[in-house]
Amino acid sequence: MARSIDAKCRKCRRAGEKLFLKGDRCLTPKCGFVRRSYVPGVHGKKVTRNLSEYGTQLALKQKIKRIYGVFEKQFRKHFEEVRGKSGSTGDLLLSRLEMRLDNAVYRLGFASSRAQARQLVSHGLVIVNGKKKTIPSAAVKVGQIISISQRKMKKNYVNNLVPVIKNKKDFPAWLSFDGQKLEGKVISLPGKNDTGINVDAQVIVEYYSR
Ligand code: SF4
Repeated sequence: MARSIDAKCRKCRRAGEKLFLKGDRCLTPKCGFVRRSYVPGVHGKKVTRNLSEYGTQLALKQKIKRIYGVFEKQFRKHFEEVRGKSGSTGDLLLSRLEMRLDNAVYRLGFASSRAQARQLVSHGLVIVNGKKKTIPSAAVKVGQIISISQRKMKKNYVNNLVPVIKNKKDFPAWLSFDGQKLEGKVISLPGKNDTGINVDAQVIVEYYSR
């Protein structure tokens, strides 16, 4: 367990920035990147980043995959879903990633990390429009209502969650939240600026077009 927790921080250190993969811990001085902001490995402190164009494209793709916790096959699938649609493919890709059900659950504050949100979904604890949904990669749609099954959830989890989520203010513009009902609603499609990721995702399009 400790190994996989460390592995997440190694991803941030390799990316050269915080990717916020461990929930609340990422905001504390215990953050692995705050403590060791150099590339992991024995020569990490001496490593300077001087990437080729290909290396830059690859690094950006890896960074976005790590943020959303998506493996290559799934990432490529999302890319194929948006390829050919009108608009910037890079921005559409980010929007599609943002609309993943696990990400929406995380954004609404039902989980403290995307990894935890993914577990909630795959364990059948997430309800969309009154029905259980178990596919983390499924795209949420405008108008859908997202909640968690408080009946199935461990009591401690719900007790801890309720005060936190009721005070939460930083919902992205594409989601609204009803603190009384403890449910979120998709009110629009997420735009480029709603992802909180400051990257030119068109670079990924170039990577896959090589
Ligand atoms: Fe670890 Fe910090 Fe990255 Fe969070 S942001 S995963 S604590 S290195």
